[in-house]
Amino acid sequence: MVVFKFGGASVKDADGFRNVADIIRNHQGEDSLVVVVSATGKTTNALEEVIDKKFTNTSDALKELEKIRISHQRIISSLGLDHEVTLQQMVHEHFVEAEWIIEETREMNYDYAYDQVIAIGELVSSRILEATLKNSGINTSWVDARSLIRTDETWREGRVQWNITNDQIRDICLPLLTQQKVIVTQGFIGSTAENNTVTLGREGSDYTAAIISAALNARSMTIWKDVPGVLTGDPKVFDNVTKLDRLSFMEAIEMTYYGAKVIHPKTIQPLKNKNIPLNVRSFIEPQKDGTIIFGEIEREYPPIVVLESNQALIHFSSKDLSFIAEDHLAELFKIFDQLRIKVNLMRNTAISFTICASNQRAKIAELQKKVEQQFSVIIDPDLDLYTIRHCNETMLPKLLSEKIIILEERIRNTVQVVVKNAPDIVHKKH
Ligand code: ADP
Ligand code: ASP
Ligand code: MG
Repeated sequence: MVVFKFGGASVKDADGFRNVADIIRNHQGEDSLVVVVSATGKTTNALEEVIDKKFTNTSDALKELEKIRISHQRIISSLGLDHEVTLQQMVHEHFVEAEWIIEETREMNYDYAYDQVIAIGELVSSRILEATLKNSGINTSWVDARSLIRTDETWREGRVQWNITNDQIRDICLPLLTQQKVIVTQGFIGSTAENNTVTLGREGSDYTAAIISAALNARSMTIWKDVPGVLTGDPKVFDNVTKLDRLSFMEAIEMTYYGAKVIHPKTIQPLKNKNIPLNVRSFIEPQKDGTIIFGEIEREYPPIVVLESNQALIHFSSKDLSFIAEDHLAELFKIFDQLRIKVNLMRNTAISFTICASNQRAKIAELQKKVEQQFSVIIDPDLDLYTIRHCNETMLPKLLSEKIIILEERIRNTVQVVVKNAPDIVHKKH
């Protein structure tokens, strides 16, 4: 069997759903199929707005939710699925569940509420895909991913409990696959032991597909994207990028760790453990090959550039001028872990320690509060972090021209540079 994952860009409108149904139809018969789908287009961002409003103004939150409902209803109408009673009922129920959470007046943990509401994006899009496939004669079975993926209660970044998750996936999916059903399920969501919905972290649908692929020993997994495959840089940011036909698992892990947004960083590990090839292919040109991620053998790669924008440098110095030693660092890292601050780069001197992390103001303020007794903290906001793998010296000056270099690190042929855009220069393609 094989696993396909379709992200938000592939199902942003009715044509998108039709195209996905075509791709699925063209692969039917070759293998049995599990399809993992994300929320349509930018729905998750819109639902994040709804959650923000729940904590400020309930009626505004309900208005935003209504806009999301209408946009889905439009897709349903364009697909000619208005009269599909089950679809309409299911979609209605998912929206009602979200309304309950929004209208709940008891005090509620933000992250918990977030997960309960945000999940409806995936639930609704998977219902629409199920109906689209059924309507075009494909033998389809909708499965609630919350009955497959079990996590702990780390809201917004549930940690997968592997044994029970693997058992659930096999128990539920294998019988359906032997009945030749195309399984449609959701990315990004799971459930706790108490049946509360949990999400796996933004962009987590790739990860869900990998969890399912590993549990079912899939022959391969394919993620269908709006790009021809993995490229040497994000085409939305860089000109002159080229497609990489093959990548080793290690190279893919490194690239995604440094922030290459094309694949969620947790995706590769479960596939590597089971030696399952990962294809990255274009849903716009589905006849083309894309990129295959597989194997251990390293090859010659061209320079690969990853840009993480909106970064901050956070400088800690000890108030009593004592050396920043292992005990200090251990304390700081414990706090980073508690606040889920991902350190993208670090550097220490005798009495100071600097990290580069995403510029999330609320988190950084919390961090400052937690360490203020011991450390003075200075923040340098609004920076960009470039990571260049397989760097060659000729490309760096061009890439970094018109930028002020704040910090530079090299480990073998990986170069990381924190930069500020020179004044008056607006972000532009390279
Ligand atoms: P999905 O629809 O699955 O959510 P994403 O939008 O998360 O897809 O990922 C695809 C996007 O990733 C592309 O549109 C592209 O802008 C971006 N991207 C970033 N880095 C790369 C890269 N190295 N190769 C290809 N695409 C990249
Ligand atoms: N819909 C979720 C998000 O936008 C998950 C995903 O697309 O992978 O983050
Ligand atoms: Mg995405």
